[in-house]
Amino acid sequence: MNHMIRCAHCRRLILSNPRVKDQRYCSQKACQRARKTLWQRQKMATDPDYQLNQRDCQKDWKKRNHDYWRRYRSQHPGYITRNRLLQKHRDRRRRLHHLAKMDASEQIFAVKPGSYYLIPAKGHLAKMDTLSQKVFLIPTSYTDLAKKDSMDSLYAFP
Ligand SMILES: [Zn+2]
Repeated sequence: MNHMIRCAHCRRLILSNPRVKDQRYCSQKACQRARKTLWQRQKMATDPDYQLNQRDCQKDWKKRNHDYWRRYRSQHPGYITRNRLLQKHRDRRRRLHHLAKMDASEQIFAVKPGSYYLIPAKGHLAKMDTLSQKVFLIPTSYTDLAKKDSMDSLYAFP
């Protein structure tokens, strides 16, 4: 007798098909594909014969396909030239894009002419004489702020 079941893939409630034993999936293509994939995975994990057979099939398929492409390339020399040109074009475009991006970031980080306080990225102002690899450039327009507060507050600036 028919009864309602929930598809294990799409989770829809469906009327079961009495001819399908232990039905867990509906008849939609995607759900049937999911059922088959799961079955194959379980079979691979539990059936050594199936495993070997699949591996051989894959090897054959790879060999056949490899031969196919090798033959295709030898019969269509234009194919390689075209691919190489396309790749070159892609590389060039990527490089240009990268350069364009670099320009943009350089513009962002470019230091405008003016006066700055050099604040060591690490350590204290008192140790400014030791070489600091990184310094923060604080525009002198921040002077008022610096006067109001201790210089320590300026360390917070990235
Ligand atoms: Zn389904």
